Amino acid sequence: MPYAPVQPGRFVSALAEPRRQTDTGPMRLIDTHTHLDFPDFDSDRAEVLTHCRTLGVERLVLLGVYRDNWERLWDLALKEDGLYAAFGLHPVYLDQHQPGHLQELQDWLQRLSGHPKLCAVGEIGLDYFLEELDRTRQQQLFEAQLKLAIDFELPALLHVRRAHAPTIATLKRLKPARGGIVHAFAGSHEEAREYLKLGFKLGLGARPPGRRRCACAR
Ligand SMILES: [Zn+2]
Repeated sequence: MPYAPVQPGRFVSALAEPRRQTDTGPMRLIDTHTHLDFPDFDSDRAEVLTHCRTLGVERLVLLGVYRDNWERLWDLALKEDGLYAAFGLHPVYLDQHQPGHLQELQDWLQRLSGHPKLCAVGEIGLDYFLEELDRTRQQQLFEAQLKLAIDFELPALLHVRRAHAPTIATLKRLKPARGGIVHAFAGSHEEAREYLKLGFKLGLGARPPGRRRCACAR
């Protein structure tokens, strides 16, 4: 497994590149799921980044959750070495998304296609934990964005809560060639195997007690 449990400050998951701490040098880490652009980090963002680098986290991905944070995270990604951007419409913020935002997402991906700081579509997915979120609308939004990931040949960064069966069924149907990562995975062994067979990796992070919560874990 290419994953290593790490404690990169206040982040939720980290993906180790397939190079272990051997005679080739220290393990190099990528935190594949952060929301460092959020105002919660305005007072100590630089310190958090320094701390991550001290721990060997060389790269961090900033994930989009709704239309209004895309400029903010893109500006931050451009400003700092080692930061990369993903754009998406998160299922938890379903009520904030407007029909035109999907087209805007496509426009952003088109405009930035091939840019070295663009790394994925996300954060997208299905959240059945929050019962007030309309599941039909979630599914439509998820599929539309998964198709964008396929069209632009980007990995997909997934938020999945109590919805692994429909998520796996969707992935089997649409077959995103670049795979992606299911963040904060808490499903069964069998579901984990299904994701791996589909070319996805699993984020196993968690929020340490008393820390700032992930912007997507409302
Ligand atoms: Zn998130």
